[in-house]
Amino acid sequence: MKTTLRGVGVSHGVAIGEVRHMGTAVLEPPAKQIPEQEAPREQARARRAVEAVSADLTARGQLAGGEAQAVLEAQAMMAQDPELMADVDRRIAVGSTAERAVYDALAAYRSLLAGAGEYLAGRVADLDDVRNRIVARLLGVPMPGVPDSDEPYVLIARDLAPADTALLDPTLVLGFVTEEGGPTSHSAILARALGVPAVVALPGACDLAEGTVIAVDGSTGEVFVSPSGEKRAEIEAAAAARRAALTAVTGPGATSDGHKVPLLANVGGPADVPAAVEAGAEGVGLFRTEFLFLDDGENAPSEEKQVEAYRTVLEAFPEGRVVVRVLDAGADKPLAFLTPADEPNPALGVRGLRTLLDHPEVLRTQLTALARAAEGLPVYLEVMAPMVADRTDARAFAAACREAGLRAKFGAMVEIPSAALRARSILQEVEFLSLGTNDLAQYTFAADRQVGAVSRLQDPWQPALLDLVAISADAAKAEGKSCGVCGEAASDPLLACVLTGLGVTSLSMGAASLPYVRATLAQHTLAQCERAAAAARAADTAEEARRAAQAVLSGE
Ligand code: PEP
Ligand code: MG
Repeated sequence: MKTTLRGVGVSHGVAIGEVRHMGTAVLEPPAKQIPEQEAPREQARARRAVEAVSADLTARGQLAGGEAQAVLEAQAMMAQDPELMADVDRRIAVGSTAERAVYDALAAYRSLLAGAGEYLAGRVADLDDVRNRIVARLLGVPMPGVPDSDEPYVLIARDLAPADTALLDPTLVLGFVTEEGGPTSHSAILARALGVPAVVALPGACDLAEGTVIAVDGSTGEVFVSPSGEKRAEIEAAAAARRAALTAVTGPGATSDGHKVPLLANVGGPADVPAAVEAGAEGVGLFRTEFLFLDDGENAPSEEKQVEAYRTVLEAFPEGRVVVRVLDAGADKPLAFLTPADEPNPALGVRGLRTLLDHPEVLRTQLTALARAAEGLPVYLEVMAPMVADRTDARAFAAACREAGLRAKFGAMVEIPSAALRARSILQEVEFLSLGTNDLAQYTFAADRQVGAVSRLQDPWQPALLDLVAISADAAKAEGKSCGVCGEAASDPLLACVLTGLGVTSLSMGAASLPYVRATLAQHTLAQCERAAAAARAADTAEEARRAAQAVLSGE
């Protein structure tokens, strides 16, 4: 394997540590026959694996305590069910390997459960987890899901789904490297939220051997395999120098000639607030409320639970601005109780605001919870809808907000090209726009944001994307309203200057990017940003746009 690998750097900083792989979700062992005389050995192997998994689940339960303990202990009991073990023994006796016998026996048990009423059907996911754990142990491959490790590590995954995020222990994850994903994938967003360095779209990432030491440079996209002591020192010194230059600039976001561009934070819930406050965020520009819903996954959180979470975030920014996005479910963030299971193209299906308009009770509860959470607080609450396609969508959302008695500004996210093209018409219904450049790129270039192979088209420097940003910002200016960016484009310091030059009025990003953007913006005048924006839009490719803007901003 090469000693330096190159992917796309999506979250600044350097991480050095041992590789741990995210285990694959479903492992299907090959169905091969074993000779009869090997059966007793295979049966003993199966029993040992079941006992080990069961003991591990019980131990994790004791560590976790509370509700998690009950769930994990129930899983441990499932694993040791005598009937199940008898079935495994029978299958091995007629020629199955231990792993195939466990796989098939649990599959039979699974279909029984799935058809046995709502409560038992709900346990199918737990049973799948038990099966995957036993099979992984028998195959000698990493356990499915987040690695079991007491030591900090660099997480390697094909890609990360939002549902994985709930299970990650931020004190153990030094950084991420993913084989798939682009600059706007959830792996990238999660890395920025956790403030850890990350590289995505790195070919060969999944082939890095477990335990190998790597150094990840999230700024350059480089990954050094087994770096020498000298190389490590060099990488760490460069990262420290970059950090020192940044901390020198503080205060609200502005260009060097004083044009204000509020710098806001993207948060997924109360847990992200301390980092945002510490990084000097002037408020929240995107509160992704879906994480609250993904936590449970089977039911919407109660109004009370929502009030509590929203209030914690609102209280953190007294007199600041907090932009809350209502639930954005569907596509890459499916919710079992809301998202249709049989869509041929989920990204083009019922997602975002469309889901909420189909389930008005979920929207109503969320808006009521927001109204209650903001009661008596001096915060400037703004509420926006994801995936607004046209004026009809914007009108329906504004009407729902008014009906819920929400005293806030209502806005629309621009994530679909139609919304950018018809921004002025949408602004007849709402008071602000927020550009979700991740989805806007996905839909403009017909390039799935989760697919590494098309990450070139997900590059937010694409001039066509910059054109849509310019159209939206111009429309907002003509209507005397604001137009921010809350997609990942805002977290690229150079691009942040270009967006400012295009007329964007605020920038929102993961807390870890704030110092980088603040420092870069403070080095340039508004006129320079405007010239850089014009140069970038005149280019034909993302790379040319980046180079043209860089040339203007560095005074070449
Ligand atoms: C976006 O699409 O740019 C956005 C901010 O929303 P999300 O990344 O949560 O889809
Ligand atoms: Mg989006």
